[in-house]
Amino acid sequence: MGSSLASGALLHKRGQSLEKGAPIAPPITSASMFHLPGDPDGSYHYGRAGNPSWSCTEAMIGALEDAPALLFPSGMAAISAALFATLRAGARLLLPSDGYYTTRLLAERFLEPLGVTFVERPTAQFCEGGFEGFDVVFVETPSNPGLDMTDLRAVATQVRAAGGITIADNTTLTPLGQRPLDLGIDIVVSSDTKALGGHSDLLAGHVASRNSDLMQRVEDWRKLSGSIAGAHTAWLLHRGMETLEVRYDRMCNNAEVIAARLAEHSAVNQVRFPGLATDPAHEIARTQCARFGFLIGVTLSDAERAEQFINSCTLLRPATSFGGVHSSAERRARWGDAVEPGFVRIAVGVEPVEELWAAFDTALNETLTS
Ligand SMILES: *Cc1c(COP(=O)(O)O)cnc(C)c1O
Repeated sequence: MGSSLASGALLHKRGQSLEKGAPIAPPITSASMFHLPGDPDGSYHYGRAGNPSWSCTEAMIGALEDAPALLFPSGMAAISAALFATLRAGARLLLPSDGYYTTRLLAERFLEPLGVTFVERPTAQFCEGGFEGFDVVFVETPSNPGLDMTDLRAVATQVRAAGGITIADNTTLTPLGQRPLDLGIDIVVSSDTKALGGHSDLLAGHVASRNSDLMQRVEDWRKLSGSIAGAHTAWLLHRGMETLEVRYDRMCNNAEVIAARLAEHSAVNQVRFPGLATDPAHEIARTQCARFGFLIGVTLSDAERAEQFINSCTLLRPATSFGGVHSSAERRARWGDAVEPGFVRIAVGVEPVEELWAAFDTALNETLTS
């Protein structure tokens, strides 16, 4: 179990430092220039280097991570920042072979031509073969979309002993479900487009680390590459995060109920959910995670029935991405993921669970009779 987090204190964090007459909700500061007479003193000066709306959201993310955090305009921008801050020509990088595929494409198309060697390994066997000779080890657990898991403490300890740096993509569980930094991981990256934003209306990401040298490099990368979020996005993410705890709790509770019922349904061949006692990832999840998340992998008998389920279920949006309040689903083979044609990734939302299950059950039953 990760350390528990004071979500009430998180919600009231901004309020602790307000002056009389200040708005409870943060203002949006849309500015490229800031009043700067005399010598620069670290105050806001130019919009690519810093912005009060970023700072406000970063303070909230930092409280959630219990570590300094930097905001980026997408999850991939955060991942790029972490990789460009830690890699150089000649470096060796280890990536999961079954994680978010864009990270692998970035390594293949942009890092390798710059002289970085990268090796891939499946998440379920990530520690096999050790970490000797890797400068940066990037881990994603549970992996998206297969939901396999890796022991983060083992990775952190072994990579550190071998002299490398660890980066964990914690998008799927969020710090409320799993706390990689507390387990010894050097850098956390996250797509806040997903559960932190929570309403499918923004793209954002963050990097968090307790290593100030690494964070300085990540901040330099942001300033020099110009990979910056807009003030409105920062504000919207802050607003979403104010309800993260209540949304996440509902989504994870829903997923536990739904996964168990899916496992019993005759239209379903297989269910992957780290919270099921029979799941291959359950042992790690039980010891490593505070919650099992809101993603469920289900395999129906073929692509056609999977599509029928997704498209006919009244409480499922057929859409890619996850973490929003509306339940959504997609057949991952349509993007070329190495999964069965009938494999569906379900992102469970905040709907009342019995209403949600009734809709799932109806749509699943229809796949059996058509
Ligand atoms: C979505 C996602 C990303 C990329 O995030 P964007 O905000 O789309 O750039 C990275 N990692 C994981 C695990 C994701 O699910």
